[in-house]
Amino acid sequence: MLKRFISYYKPHKKLFIIDMICAFLIASIDLSVPMLSRYALNDLLPKNQFRTFFLFILMLLGLYLIRSVFQYIVDFWGHILGVRMEYDMRRDLFKHLQSLSFRFYDKTRTGHIMSRMVNDLNEITELAHHGPEDLFLSLIMLIGAFFAMLFMEWRLALAVYIFIPFLVWFAIKQRTKMSRGFKNVKKKIANVNAQLESSISGIRVSKSFANEEHEMEKFTFGNKEFRASKDVAYKNMAIFSVGMGFITKILNLVVIGFGGFLIMKGTMDIMDLLAFIMYVNAFLQPIRRLSNFVQQFESGMTGFERFTELMEIEPLIKDKLGAVDLKNVTGNIDFNNVTFSYNDHEKVLNNINLNINAGRTLALVGPSGGGKTTLCHLIPRFYEVDEGMITIDGKNIKDIKVKSLRSNIGLVSQDVFLFAGTIKDNIMYGDISASEERLIEAAKNAEIHDFIMGLPDGYDTNVGERGIRLSGGQKQRISIARVFLKNPPILILDEATSALDNETEIKIQRALEKLSKGRTSLVIAHRLSTIKNADEIVVITEEGIKEKGTHEQLLASEGIYEKLYKAQFKGYIPDQI
Ligand code: ADP
Ligand code: MG
Repeated sequence: MLKRFISYYKPHKKLFIIDMICAFLIASIDLSVPMLSRYALNDLLPKNQFRTFFLFILMLLGLYLIRSVFQYIVDFWGHILGVRMEYDMRRDLFKHLQSLSFRFYDKTRTGHIMSRMVNDLNEITELAHHGPEDLFLSLIMLIGAFFAMLFMEWRLALAVYIFIPFLVWFAIKQRTKMSRGFKNVKKKIANVNAQLESSISGIRVSKSFANEEHEMEKFTFGNKEFRASKDVAYKNMAIFSVGMGFITKILNLVVIGFGGFLIMKGTMDIMDLLAFIMYVNAFLQPIRRLSNFVQQFESGMTGFERFTELMEIEPLIKDKLGAVDLKNVTGNIDFNNVTFSYNDHEKVLNNINLNINAGRTLALVGPSGGGKTTLCHLIPRFYEVDEGMITIDGKNIKDIKVKSLRSNIGLVSQDVFLFAGTIKDNIMYGDISASEERLIEAAKNAEIHDFIMGLPDGYDTNVGERGIRLSGGQKQRISIARVFLKNPPILILDEATSALDNETEIKIQRALEKLSKGRTSLVIAHRLSTIKNADEIVVITEEGIKEKGTHEQLLASEGIYEKLYKAQFKGYIPDQI
């Protein structure tokens, strides 16, 4: 993990080196000031060299000015370095999230991802900047002050060193506690975010059930847990600060007491003690500094750990070595003994054999839960088949580049998702480089052009978050226009007309028929009247494929399809088929 963290410094080597050099110079100045002061007080003053003494003080002032410049560089550019690294990490995480497959999103809550993207990475800036700089600066200061004290008065120095193991023990112990605490805080805030995301996306539902209070309760539960986790973390942080502060105060007392004793005995003079005390503080400063930033450090590091956890999840579906592009697709699709399950204990598809000839339409019908949607999702490799294989024009889809495979398939499903943005943006999603003419042609084909032109802003109308201002049928037609623009040789229509009223359905049906012309199509429809003309109809239930044939053949065979069809014709659908 540390290796990964360090790798983020690499693109910003220059900033890092400047930061480190300035930190080094600051430490050098801080270490030399006590020595210089001691020299001035000891050697210049007694010789009545006031002029030199005054010049000396001016020189110190100059030194402090220079130090301020270095400090500015460290504080400003150092943080800039952190910001750059945070930016890079967020970019990489987003890219990685784009690559993860359906299985990952099936089991991950959006809020948890948001939390990592926003909260966890937020503190990385501090860690990235202060981590190495503090370590480096503190180390130099510690070593420098250590030898300076030893050199000045070894007895007094030893008295100070006795405290070090104690300090270190306390710091490590308390630090571990804090680390655990802040990790817990991160988990809890992720839960709060997840709940927030769910409640806000479902706000219309909770309002329709007048369940706002229930939502409040659910939210409060997580919020309280978050509060409790912070209580613990801050308690440990306070114990840490207080403990460190107390130990250093005692240390100062010891130095003054023991130093005073040495002065009385005549083995040390008062100027030495003054300089020594300055060194003790130069020695304690890095320790205090570390203690101040331990919290940031812990937060940042746990944040980075959580970032790494996500980054290490392998995308399940990716190009295999030697994967090829799909060229000149005719669109012959074959399922050979395909078996698939979402989990270990239940097979959704078992030994499925299907063939859709290029340019033909195959309709899938059957009870809900029979695996129709699942079957559709296997063709663009949203999920990987467990056994058997699917081929397009004789090529195993696993040997085709994912991007190439998916760009040849158009999918229209029941729940349409529109991105925040304009209608134009949403249709153009089918082909981002399409011309205005093609955009309009696609909209016309999808029978949505007239509606769009009737809007005050036309194609530039904002659809609002989740396209809430459009009706189901309008959204559906926008999604169909999107696929017209994409113009793929293979088409999958998964209950594209199910949730619509009759009039819209006729319009959409017309658009879909136009769309499937000349393409290999796989159509799932609830209403059987819409698939009568399919070249082949396949009845699929939880037990697998039950019937195959044309509408007329299936009616004649008096099986499941015939029962279903008659039932719909009469206006009711039986529970059992
Ligand atoms: P259909 O489209 O015919 O109604 P589905 O393919 O949606 O059927 O579902 C088939 C079975 O797989 C159902 O039992 C459903 O609960 C299950 N299922 C569907 N999607 C998932 C998923 N993402 N994770 C786990 N199980 C799923
Ligand atoms: Mg379905």
